[in-house]
Amino acid sequence: MILKLIGHTYKYECEKVLRLFFPTAKIEFAAQGAALDPSADTVVCERAETPAGTVYRCRAHIDGRTAAAERPGTDADAVIEENPIATVMVEALKELTGVMPPWGILTGVRPSKLMRKLLASDGDAAERIFTDTLLVRPDKASLARRVADAEEAAVQLSRPDSFSLYIAVPFCPSRCSYCSFVSHSVAQAKKLIPSYVQRLCEEIDATALLARKLGLRLETVYIGGGTPTVLDPMQLEAVCAALRRGFALDSAREFTVEAGRPDTVTPEKLAVLKSAGVGRISINPQTFSDEVLAAIGRRHTVADIYDRFALARAAGFDNINMDLIAGLPGDTPEGFAKSLSAAVGLAPENITVHTLALKRAAALSLSETAVFGAETAAMLDAASNALPQAGYSPYYMYRQSKSVGNLENVGWTKPGRECLYNIYMMEEVHSVFACGAGAVTKTVSPATGFINRFYNFKYPYEYLSRFSEVLERKQNIAAFYREEKD
Ligand code: SF4
Repeated sequence: MILKLIGHTYKYECEKVLRLFFPTAKIEFAAQGAALDPSADTVVCERAETPAGTVYRCRAHIDGRTAAAERPGTDADAVIEENPIATVMVEALKELTGVMPPWGILTGVRPSKLMRKLLASDGDAAERIFTDTLLVRPDKASLARRVADAEEAAVQLSRPDSFSLYIAVPFCPSRCSYCSFVSHSVAQAKKLIPSYVQRLCEEIDATALLARKLGLRLETVYIGGGTPTVLDPMQLEAVCAALRRGFALDSAREFTVEAGRPDTVTPEKLAVLKSAGVGRISINPQTFSDEVLAAIGRRHTVADIYDRFALARAAGFDNINMDLIAGLPGDTPEGFAKSLSAAVGLAPENITVHTLALKRAAALSLSETAVFGAETAAMLDAASNALPQAGYSPYYMYRQSKSVGNLENVGWTKPGRECLYNIYMMEEVHSVFACGAGAVTKTVSPATGFINRFYNFKYPYEYLSRFSEVLERKQNIAAFYREEKD
C-alpha cells in the first residue's frame, strides 16, 4: 500500500491512521512528485492552499474501490494541524471499508492521560472534544472519562519525591502463541535462571542505594514478567529478601506479584510471597475454555485456574487480579461471555480485559480482519456491560499500537481495590525504576513532567554477560535527577 503526502510532512501520523484500518499492511511512502500507478493500492493525503483558504483532502484507492473526503481548514487547525488531516483520512477510509474506528483519530496509547489533560484545561468540555474533534465514539469517550476520574485519587497520593519499582522475570513455563513479550520458556533458559536471580538481586541492591542517595520515597512494587512464579520458592525468597533489605517495603502502598500462569502457582510459593508482604497477585486465566487454552499453548486447564485461585484465597490473598483476553484464536463472543461470567463468579478484586495484539491477524485478509475486529470489539462491549453490573468499575486503561482497531485494554476494579502501580505507570505520574532483563526505567520530572527512558539489555544472556554495564547505567538515572535539581 502506498501512502502519498502532499503539502505537509505528517508521515508518522498518517501511517498511524492508515494502520487503524489496515493494521498488517506493508506501507510505503511515495517520493515527492512521483506519479502513482493507477492500479496500486494508494492513499493520498493533501493539504492545499486555495483562494478560499486551506483545504484538507484524502483520496483512497484500495482493492479497486475509491473513496474521497475533503474539509476546509478552521482556526482551530492551526493548533493541532494533524487533526484535520487524520479526520479526512478516517472519513475516506470509513467510506471505503465500512469500518469506523471506535477511538476515531486518536492513535495514542494513553487515552485516559489525554482525557486528564483535557479535563484540567477544558473541564467538562473534554468529553465533547473527544467525540466532536477526535471522532471518538461516545461510549469510549465516557470510558476514558470514567477512568480519568477514577485515577485522580491515586494520582493525588503521589508526591514529587515518589517513585515505583518494577522487577522483571522474563521466563515462562511455555510460550503462549499470541505472546509479543520477550519471554523465554523455562525449557530453553532453565540453566540461566540461578545466575539471573543472583544478578537481579545485585541490581535491586544497586537500585536501592541509588534511591536512598536521591532521597526518594517508594510507593509501589510490581514483580512482572514473563511469569515471576516460574522461580522456585528459594529463588522467589531471594528476590523478596533483596527488596526487603534495600527498600522500605512496609511503608510502600502496594506490592504486587504476577503469578500469571496458574501452572506455576504452588502453596509453597504462595506462602513465600505472603510472608514477604506481597499484598496483590495476578492469576491469569485469559479464557475459561479448555479448547482455547490448548489452542494458545497454555499448558494448564480451566480446572487448574479454579484450583490455584482457591489456593491463593486459602493462603490469605484478598487482592487478586485476573486477566482475560478478547479475540483469542478459536474464541467467540459467546465463549468470551462465558469466560467473563466465570471470572465474575470467582469475585477477584480486579479483572483486566485485554485485546489481543495483532499477531493473529497477520494471516487474515482485509474482510477477515474486519470481522475479527468487529467480534473483538463486541467482546469488549460485552465486558463494559457485564462488569459494572457485577460491581466493577474501570480504573486504568491503555492501548497497544498493534491491536485490531486499536482497541483498548481496561483494568476493572471492585470499589477501593485499584492497583496503584498500574495507574502510576500508565499515567506517567512519577518515575518507575526497573530491574532485570528487558526492563525500562522511566524517569519523570516532578517539575515539568519531562520523561526519559533508560533501557536494560533485552535478553537474559546479554543481561548476564554485560552485567557491569547494567550497573554503570544507573549513573545515568542519577544524572537525570541531578539535572532536575540544577
Ligand atoms: S505467560 Fe504471558 S509473558 Fe509468558 S508466554 Fe504467555 S503471554 Fe507471554
